Amino acid sequence: MSDWTGIIDDVASHVTLLKELGVRTVELPPGFFAAWDKPAAAPAPAAAPVPLAKLTLPGPVAEAPPAAGPLAPEARRKALADIAERVGVCVNCPLHAAGRANVVPGQGNPDSPDVMFIGEAPGEEEDRQGLAFVGAAGQFLTKMIEAMGYTREQVFIANICKCRPPRNRVPDAVEMQKCLPFLREQIRVIRPKTIVLLGGTAIKGILNSQMGVTRIQGTWTSYEGIPVMPTYHPSYIIRFENSGDAAGMKTAKLHVWNALKLVLARLGKPVPQPGKKG
Ligand code: URA
Repeated sequence: MSDWTGIIDDVASHVTLLKELGVRTVELPPGFFAAWDKPAAAPAPAAAPVPLAKLTLPGPVAEAPPAAGPLAPEARRKALADIAERVGVCVNCPLHAAGRANVVPGQGNPDSPDVMFIGEAPGEEEDRQGLAFVGAAGQFLTKMIEAMGYTREQVFIANICKCRPPRNRVPDAVEMQKCLPFLREQIRVIRPKTIVLLGGTAIKGILNSQMGVTRIQGTWTSYEGIPVMPTYHPSYIIRFENSGDAAGMKTAKLHVWNALKLVLARLGKPVPQPGKKG
């Protein structure tokens, strides 16, 4: 598949999704089409910053070109180590000075794993260990992964932001925009077969969409030709548990499990029976 085919597939499936969800208009940055009409040799006009609050189609302007082809395993590890090194010295947003103990680039199987899980940002435990999803939400994510028949080592786990926001607040638009290039690079290197987006921040970051998780969860979309399944963040379920809302928790868990089953079906994998490890 060529780079352009992937981009066109992305745009087509995203537009289909928007249509199914009843969206009839799309806001584009000023001068979006004018830029296409310029002669190829003309210098690109400085793009006006587009707030994440605006719904924009993923397009060739904002994205770096995808890798020419799959990397050899050794080159892949080197590329990921290089990204992690750059994350480690990143000062592109205020989070680097917000008391981070460690950056959290993400970890797992880099060799085109069946699934890459993407969350929001590190919490306290993740910041302490330098590893993604190792706190309470991580324990729930582990259960999700194991219920699918995988181990954590067989999938890749990462976040939109690589540094912990103070008091675990949601990362802001600037923090997300500054950090996203690292994740996009990781995805191009890892080339997961599917991506599971965990919660609203992951949806906003990868799909550049303001659509709420409740509307979009459980519905296939795509990113750079990779099938993407959005679902709830593990913390959302834990919140029900902590508040004693058993019915809410059961419903949320069911939605997440249904989404994960769609992923297994797409991968051609059987759904493991409860209690049996795959
Ligand atoms: N929540 C996230 O989104 N990511 C983590 O790594 C931990 C908690």
